[in-house]
Amino acid sequence: MALTLPAHPDPLADRLHAGGLLHELAHGLGGPFHYLLPERFDANLADFRAALTEAGVEGRVYYAKKANKASVFMDRCAAAGGGADIASLGELRDALGHGVRGEDLVVTGPAKSPELLQVAVRQGALIAVDAPDELDRLLTLGGERPVRVLLRRHPPTQLRSRFGLDDTQLHEALGRCAAAGDAVRMEGFSFHLSGYALQPRADLAGELVELCLKARVLGLRADRISIGGGFPVDYVAADAWDTFLGEHDPGHYHGHKAFAAGDFYPYHSPVAGADALRAILAAQPAGSGASLAERLRQAGVMLLLEPGRALLDRAGSSVFRVQGVKDRAGYGIVTVDGTSLSLSEQWFNSEYLPEPVLLTRADPEGDREDDPYEACVGGASCLDSDLLTWRKIRFPTRPRFGDLLVYPNTAGYQMDSNESPFHELPLPPKVVIDQDGDRPRWRLDR
Ligand SMILES: *Cc1c(COP(=O)(O)O)cnc(C)c1O
Repeated sequence: MALTLPAHPDPLADRLHAGGLLHELAHGLGGPFHYLLPERFDANLADFRAALTEAGVEGRVYYAKKANKASVFMDRCAAAGGGADIASLGELRDALGHGVRGEDLVVTGPAKSPELLQVAVRQGALIAVDAPDELDRLLTLGGERPVRVLLRRHPPTQLRSRFGLDDTQLHEALGRCAAAGDAVRMEGFSFHLSGYALQPRADLAGELVELCLKARVLGLRADRISIGGGFPVDYVAADAWDTFLGEHDPGHYHGHKAFAAGDFYPYHSPVAGADALRAILAAQPAGSGASLAERLRQAGVMLLLEPGRALLDRAGSSVFRVQGVKDRAGYGIVTVDGTSLSLSEQWFNSEYLPEPVLLTRADPEGDREDDPYEACVGGASCLDSDLLTWRKIRFPTRPRFGDLLVYPNTAGYQMDSNESPFHELPLPPKVVIDQDGDRPRWRLDR
C-alpha cells in the first residue's frame, strides 16, 4: 500500500483548484507553470514581526532572496518596509530595483565579489564578513561612508561548516575593526545554522550577545546580532509523517530506489515559522538564567533574522500537465510536461514528499473510474533519473492526458532554484494570483 503524505489543507488553494482557472492557464501558457500567492508572504512577514513585538524585542526581518526568484515577493518585501538578505550582485540589483533600500540589505555568502562589496558599501548595506581576507578587502573600501559589518561566527556545533570566523579569527577581526576607527562600523555578529533545531540557535544567539558586550569594551558599536534563517516549515500532518518515517522502504518507490530518512527535509515540524522564532526567544541560552528575549533587552542588542523558506510558506505551488500514463507491474508511470528541475529537492539525493494533487479534466464521456491508481511521476526529458516523484502516489483515479498535477507549497526553494531550459523546454512562467473578493485574478510575474 502506498503511504500518503498530503499537504495540510489550505482553503485558499482548494478554492483555486476547484475553479477552472488552473486548467485555463495551463491551456493558455501551454506548459507547466508556478502560481504565487503574495498575500501569504505578507501574512508570514507580519507574523515574524508580531513575534518580535510580543517578546518586546527590537528586531528586523530580512527576506532571504535566494529562496525564490519571483519579483512579486521582493515587491511585497519593499512595500512592507522589510529588508532582504542577498548574496550576489544580481540579487542586490533585484532588491534595489524593487525598492528595498540599500541600508535594509544584509549581504551574506562566502568570499563576496569585489563588485558586490563595492556596491554594497556605497548603498550602506550591512555586510556579514565571512573570512579575514574579506575583511581586509572591505577595509580598503571605506571612503566617504563607514563600512557596516557583522562578523559571521563559525558555528562551534557544526565544525564541518565552511562558513564564518573561528574564535581566533574573530578575536583578530575585532582588533582590526577597532584599529580601523571611523572607516568601519562594527555592528555585531551573525550566524546561519544548517538544520532546524531551535535550542542551538538560542544557545549561539546567547553567545553572540556576550560577544557584543566584549566588543563594546573595544569601543565598537556591536548592538545587533543576526541568527540567520532555517525557521522550519510544517508541510504535512504529524500522524502521516510519523507513519511515513516508520514504514517507508524501497518498495514504495519506482525502481526500488532507496532514500535514507535522514536525507528528507523534516516535512512535519510541531513548531514552525514565526512560532519557531517565538520559541527561540523564549528559550534560555546555555549558561544563562534568562530567556534570549530578556538577554537581548538587557544588553540592548537588536535581533536580525533572515528567513527564506518560512516567509514563503503556502505562497505558491507548481502545476504540470499530464502528458502520458503507462502501466508497469503493480503501478504506473505518469509523465508530465515539465521536468524535475522545477522541483529542486529531487537534485539533493532526496525527494519532495508533500504529494501532488490531481485535478482531473471534465469527463464528458463519463467513463472515468474511481479506482485508486498508484503511480510515480516522471519528467518529459530523456534522463532516466528525471522523476518529480519516485514514490508511488495513490491517486484517486487513473490520471489521464490533460489532467493537472499540482505540487503544493513549492515557493520555498522548490520551484526555481535549479530550473534550466534543459531540452530547450521553456522555463515555467510564474503566475501571480491576487484575490479580488472571492474572485482570483492572475497576472504574470515580471
Ligand atoms: C539560505 C540562508 C538563509 C535562509 O535560510 P532559510 O532556511 O530559507 O530560512 C538565511 N541566511 C543565510 C546566511 C543563508 O545562507
